[in-house]
Amino acid sequence: MASLQFPDNSLLAKLAAILGPQGFITDPDLVTPWLTDWRRRYHGRTAAMLAPADRDQVAQIVSLAAEARVALVPQGGNTGTVAGATPPPDGSALLLSLRRMNRIRSISAEDNAVIAEAGVILSNLHDAAAAVGRRFPLSLAAKGSATIGGLVSTNAGGTQVLRFGPMRALVLGIEAVLPDGSLFEGLATLRKDNRGYDLRQLLTGAEGTLGVITAAALRLVPAVGARAVAWAGLPSPEAALKLLRRLEEATGEAVESFELVPANALALVLEKLPMLRSPLAAAAPWNVLIECVGSAGAPDPAIKLAELLGEQIDAGLVTNATLAASEAQAEALWALRESISEAEKADGPSLKHDISVPVSEMPSFVERERERVEARFPGSRIIAFGHLGDGNIHFNLLPPDDADRLAWIEQHGAAATAVIHDLVVASGGSLSAEHGIGQAKLAEFARLADPVRLSAIRAIKAALDPVGIMNPGKLVPLASKEKGQ
Ligand SMILES: Cc1cc2nc3c(=O)[nH]c(=O)nc-3n(C[C@H](O)[C@H](O)[C@H](O)COP(=O)(O)OP(=O)(O)OC[C@H]3O[C@@H](n4cnc5c(N)ncnc54)[C@H](O)[C@@H]3O)c2cc1C
Repeated sequence: MASLQFPDNSLLAKLAAILGPQGFITDPDLVTPWLTDWRRRYHGRTAAMLAPADRDQVAQIVSLAAEARVALVPQGGNTGTVAGATPPPDGSALLLSLRRMNRIRSISAEDNAVIAEAGVILSNLHDAAAAVGRRFPLSLAAKGSATIGGLVSTNAGGTQVLRFGPMRALVLGIEAVLPDGSLFEGLATLRKDNRGYDLRQLLTGAEGTLGVITAAALRLVPAVGARAVAWAGLPSPEAALKLLRRLEEATGEAVESFELVPANALALVLEKLPMLRSPLAAAAPWNVLIECVGSAGAPDPAIKLAELLGEQIDAGLVTNATLAASEAQAEALWALRESISEAEKADGPSLKHDISVPVSEMPSFVERERERVEARFPGSRIIAFGHLGDGNIHFNLLPPDDADRLAWIEQHGAAATAVIHDLVVASGGSLSAEHGIGQAKLAEFARLADPVRLSAIRAIKAALDPVGIMNPGKLVPLASKEKGQ
């Protein structure tokens, strides 16, 4: 790829003239908070933060950047966990914030579809869908900040993948500015469209490396009629998977969330967030948070869920359980699950691994590999929690309590991560289940990915972005000949 340039004064002046003071931001107080990733491990610099108001301004920015060979780093809510939206530290790239583009262009209960601009915040989309008697069935703990552009670009997962799939399954259409500044208008909400390569799917999960998403058409589903939320204690992850399958048999498609929470994750949450309450009278080694949902007119899922949990307590699969009796109690149970990342952050630096393995492998993987990793790195603790039904667990390693955590990670972090990823690959899994590659996983992706996958990814990148201006240094590992340049 041709070499990139630093932005010069002539380019900056043109951009300032197009975007005006609201869209061309250089005040360090306004820019600096967006130059560090959510986990505060990567710090970037930029000559300016560009905040376009509409897609025409995005197209003008990208055309000028392509002509000047200057890199752009798209950014939404900056909640990504692999530092995909953090510009490089040398100041060579311009930060392109989509947050001002936050309009819902249209929403239709009849079409079961919404067209939302890239900067729409997920919880605002939830509210807009609720206002027309529908819902957008993807949620995650960062919903108050994560944007549609970021969610599409990372192919985000979250807590309802079990029933509705990840973002990829919910994107009906995409509007994006491609790396040469041209506008791809693919927003038509067609259920069937067989015109060859699917650019919508190519841009979904591309982490800003193939273009800038300016809007997306998204699928809606009927609003929730009734929901039932329960917390159950179990002896093992194996029991948890058995419980999930029994629940599915008993309730059909009603199970939307089935989140595994080990005792150590729950204890950390209760320690770091003392306003939260323990859900069960007696602590269990493993827990699951279950949500079953029925649409209006369907039988109340709480009846089946209570019945099944009672049966499974009698059968010894479940040790104890509680069913939320009100919305407030349901939210309190969810708060326990959604606070795990925050509790880990409050506890200090740790090593995160967002892994997937085939669902049937997950129970034994969690127990066997947890023991193996803890034995290999004495004093370390694994907190393995998350989306059991999707075969996706956050397999996070906390350094020993008596260690200086940053120093420990500096010394052992790369080795520990490599051990964990090797175990994942040996189980036929992926080192990135839902968070993407960004810059945090790039070296491990390059080390472990199948060469055929890597060369296809590089070929797609080179075809659509030959100058390489879109989010360089993220997702696409350099080929060895480029590294030497
Ligand atoms: C507490 C917490 C919980 C989380 N839970 C989950 C979870 O359960 N499941 C999950 O999948 N993720 C989860 N995440 C990760 C994160 O919320 C998602 O990755 C989300 O999709 C990022 O959205 P964002 O708007 O913040 O994007 P950013 O972080 O700003 O960007 C993410 C990536 O997308 C690119 N990008 C952003 N906008 C655009 C655009 N308009 N066009 C092109 N590229 C763009 C960026 O360059 C970057 O590569 C969690 C994060 C936090 C902090």
